[in-house]
Amino acid sequence: MSDDTTITTDTRTTDSAGFTATVPGVARIGANRELKRAVEAYWAGRIDAAALTRVATGIRRDSWSRLIDAGFDSVPVNTFSYYDQVLDTAVMLGALPPRVAAIDDPLDRYFAAARGTAGGPGPDIAPLEMTKWFDTNYHYLVPEIGPDTEFTLDPGTVLDEIAQAQAQGVPARPVVIGPITFLALAKAVDGGPTPLTRIDDLLPLYTELLGRLAQTGVDWVQIDEPTLVTDQADGLTDLAERVYGVLSAVRTRPRILVQTYFGDAGDRLAALARTEVEGVGVDLVTGSPNTVRTADLTGKLVVAGVVDGRNVWRTDLDAALAALESLRAHAGALAVSTSCSTLHVPYTVRGEFELDPVLHGWLAFAEEKFGEVAALARALAHGRDDQACRFEAARAALASRAADPRVHVAAVRERLAGLTPADWTRSPAPDRREAQDAALGLPVLPTTTIGSYPQTVEIRKARLALRNGTIDSAAYRSRMEQEVAAVIALQEQVGLDVLVHGEPERNDMVQYFAEQLDGFFATAAGWVQSYGSRCVRPPILFGDVRRSSPMTVGWITYAQSLTEKPVKGMLTGPVTILAWSFVRDDQPLAETARQVALAIRDETTDLERAGVPIIQVDEPALRELLPLRTADRAAYLDWAVTAFRIATGGVGDATAIHTHLCYSEFGEVIGAIAALDADVTSIEAARSHMEVLDDLDAAGFAAQVGPGVYDIHSPRVPAADEVAASLREALDAVRADRLWVNPDCGLKTRRTDEVTAALRNMVDAARRVREEIAADRATVPAT
Ligand code: GLN
Ligand code: ZN
Repeated sequence: MSDDTTITTDTRTTDSAGFTATVPGVARIGANRELKRAVEAYWAGRIDAAALTRVATGIRRDSWSRLIDAGFDSVPVNTFSYYDQVLDTAVMLGALPPRVAAIDDPLDRYFAAARGTAGGPGPDIAPLEMTKWFDTNYHYLVPEIGPDTEFTLDPGTVLDEIAQAQAQGVPARPVVIGPITFLALAKAVDGGPTPLTRIDDLLPLYTELLGRLAQTGVDWVQIDEPTLVTDQADGLTDLAERVYGVLSAVRTRPRILVQTYFGDAGDRLAALARTEVEGVGVDLVTGSPNTVRTADLTGKLVVAGVVDGRNVWRTDLDAALAALESLRAHAGALAVSTSCSTLHVPYTVRGEFELDPVLHGWLAFAEEKFGEVAALARALAHGRDDQACRFEAARAALASRAADPRVHVAAVRERLAGLTPADWTRSPAPDRREAQDAALGLPVLPTTTIGSYPQTVEIRKARLALRNGTIDSAAYRSRMEQEVAAVIALQEQVGLDVLVHGEPERNDMVQYFAEQLDGFFATAAGWVQSYGSRCVRPPILFGDVRRSSPMTVGWITYAQSLTEKPVKGMLTGPVTILAWSFVRDDQPLAETARQVALAIRDETTDLERAGVPIIQVDEPALRELLPLRTADRAAYLDWAVTAFRIATGGVGDATAIHTHLCYSEFGEVIGAIAALDADVTSIEAARSHMEVLDDLDAAGFAAQVGPGVYDIHSPRVPAADEVAASLREALDAVRADRLWVNPDCGLKTRRTDEVTAALRNMVDAARRVREEIAADRATVPAT
């Protein structure tokens, strides 16, 4: 190449400005959950904004240092957030809801949008709605776009973070959520149009933003567009080409990296390739290198996410390097990365001292993944031998996993292989109904609750004491039995028909089971952000799953011994157990699901044998694992439904199987809900009962159903009149002999006094409506 050509080449696309190792983003909660503590202290008024800012600044500085130390030559900046990155984007685009506008202080305004202001000094402001970030367990705040939303650019936060990074000497690559994804995740309010139709209103703001970023001197900007791996809207391919055609035509701007993740970008990648953006980021864990090869990316930097950003296993470095090598000829330049932000995994395995050392060796959390990315980048540049030790260690870890007797348990495999459809097919529903009615003798409109009762201070104290060793397990057990007895007494007093033991012994509905099943282990400090300041510590499912002894039978039979009323057994379903754990990646999820299902099946049959007449198997996460691409959904729903049916298909006709789902917007899963073939399904009913029930009817759902008659997420105690009205409304859509009466979810977050009052009113309402039904029947002449 002569010097002349170099001069005429657009400097933005030369290799020298590329980079070789990075991640799309990192966690921000802090290695020791410093941000959680600080924001909660700020909300409680214990620290001021300056102190909170200092913590945030420290977290950013430390996380950038880690990336630099790992050897990254481009570092994502602006992936920090006090609460949520989508909310940050709404702030950047001037799209906070008008109801928070009156709050002067920007930080307080921000938190008001995130959490509402109920209980505060001023008027109550409702928070933004929260929902799952794609198919992860992270929850984002849903921006509200109304007809009057006027977008205006406020790039303060991103510019501040760039300034901090530059002062620290960090090769900063600012990250922002792209206009397509932002609008696709927003919801229309006040009769406004579908947010995505406002895309042209956003392009001038992003254009302006690019100019502002250019002034800071950053080489690259990363624009996240995970929506491009979904079927969330029609015409996404054309839209991607148009939007990035416009943005890449902006004269003064940094190089643009359009980052996709959580799936294969398919033909959207080729669409991006046709624009002048300089780079694209792809998820090669869930997506295929073929997509990259077929899109013409020879002029661009391809940021190849070959290290899994959302699971906890060490990478097969040989396979990852092979994938990278296979792309070399198809990309202008290659950088190594994780498949998505490491927001979704814990910080580091270093603190996991109590873990079995063999298992320890199989894991890579965020910091270990940074090392893998850097090693792959160096191997790509200098050959595998340059990183021989690391590759050798990765191979050894893989071999250890593959050969471990806990990972392949012959007895589990044989049992699975022996399963046939007969094992998950119960008798026809009407036959079961008859047997259950005879066994239970419940009134019409039976009243019940979803499972948990308030997790009191005493319960938490006892759990902590057990963990600290100040009480032994016998003492713990007797304290929990006192709780169970109290909850049974409360339910009898209130007059419920079907009782529960209250779940005091469960810290969490998944962890409780994971702790008792073979094939799982728990971490000491494997925290990940769920939303805002809330973190969870998902168990790790590493091997073949098996139940060695009953997990709940003792608690339920104890509860049953205290009352003449039927007590419901309470279990978590296989899909929810998978959804809220880190899961082994060496076999299809469907197979792992069946193993978990068999373990739950052992528990359902043991409960039945112990005389428990009703068993509820909760699947609140059924909808959550739904694949992002429509084409993958049927297969998922098929295995998810089969897993539930394996878990519940071992009991006789007279045992009633209940399930609980935590939503009322069924969408694509409605057919699957019917296919679960549960005898009774309790669901949230945030919308009107009629709508929920009509939707179920339309899907051919003919079983008994308990649409939640009041919202447990609010401390408000519903009046009996209100509950009765909602029951009457439900009766317009469903016959009385199919209707159950229950709150819309578990009661663990509420106070005992609230729960007592609310349940009293609920029972009272059920009685009134029962009398009305009886009176109606008496006046209807027999024909
Ligand atoms: N049985 C559980 C409870 O009552 C169900 C929780 C849930 O739906 N997420 O707490
Ligand atoms: Zn629920």
